Amino acid sequence: MRIPFVDLKAQYFTIKKHIDEAISKVIIDTAFIKGKYVNDFETKFAEIYGVKNCISVANGTDAIYITLKMLEIGPGDEVITTAHSWISTSEAISQTGAKPVFIDIDNYFTIDSDLIENKITEKTKAIIPVHLYGQPADIEKINNIANRYNLFLIEDCAQAHFAKFKGKNVGTFGVASTFSFYPGKNLGAYGDAGCILTNDELLAEKFFMYANHGAIMKHNHIIEGINSRMDGIQAAILITKLFYINEWNNRRYEIASLYSKLLRDVKEINIPSIRIDSNHVFHVYCIKAERRDDLKKFLLLNHIETQIHYPVMLPFMPAYSYLMHNENDFPVAAKVQKSIISLPMFPELSDDQVYYVSEKIKEFYTL
Ligand SMILES: *Cc1c(COP(=O)(O)O)cnc(C)c1O
Repeated sequence: MRIPFVDLKAQYFTIKKHIDEAISKVIIDTAFIKGKYVNDFETKFAEIYGVKNCISVANGTDAIYITLKMLEIGPGDEVITTAHSWISTSEAISQTGAKPVFIDIDNYFTIDSDLIENKITEKTKAIIPVHLYGQPADIEKINNIANRYNLFLIEDCAQAHFAKFKGKNVGTFGVASTFSFYPGKNLGAYGDAGCILTNDELLAEKFFMYANHGAIMKHNHIIEGINSRMDGIQAAILITKLFYINEWNNRRYEIASLYSKLLRDVKEINIPSIRIDSNHVFHVYCIKAERRDDLKKFLLLNHIETQIHYPVMLPFMPAYSYLMHNENDFPVAAKVQKSIISLPMFPELSDDQVYYVSEKIKEFYTL
């Protein structure tokens, strides 16, 4: 048996007819950039989230950058975020000229809400929690802190489409939330795409303007902006996939539950903890494992692909060496980065494959 880490082709074949039709329509309508299908996607996505505005952009990194920029965050400002994320989160902060302030993580791989207040200074303007791996961060508490200190709360939802906390979608707590539709995400396009959600009409207009060369009406550039647009083919694919996303997220949860059931008693590993009151959408099923690197090699020899999200936590990256951090500043992240490993996870994974992966993990620890 060969088990890939993800299999986007398998998913395509389950909905091929609908996807091919959707793409073909866009071409016939020559609605390549923005246009009808992009508008439809924005309307649908906002509606499902119960949020007033969805502004489509070129990718999830731009979504964060545009949000910060239009909240007038820039040089001299500080933005608090997690030590454990894909680099987009902190990269977008630096792009504006502001300084990323990293915080260690909790037992759920998300920003430790107990450590945030200590890092707030007069320069702090915003907090960006990341709902990492598909699990809501401690969002209610973080929202309270943001309100108390008058800080913008921006949720990075790139890995958490339709994850919920106390029944409420993540992405609806802060002033704005950002999404990526990178192909491998739970809701993925066939290229780059992203969006921003907000209930604030004025902000929505600014996001739109900035992403479109600073113009709301064509040829009337209020400011200089950037070019960050979603294309019609991606929008049509996303509209098609929206129909299946709940089913796919449920299947991910089922797979995760099966892994957890099968691996619970393996003392050399830790299965993921699920935060109380939250609906985890398992973008990634990440365990902590003893002898992680040897386990990874053993699984690969048995044709099981795994990944590490992420092998080096952000504060320890060369890009942030100027912040002069060491492992004592982020003891949890420093420890976790040596033991985490992500197992194959995609809705089309079969129960048999989950059993096989779990068996091989057990076999490794009895060697
Ligand atoms: C994927 C991702 C992004 C960026 O999305 P792109 O569409 O690849 O630019 C941002 N934050 C997190 C946590 C991500 O996983």
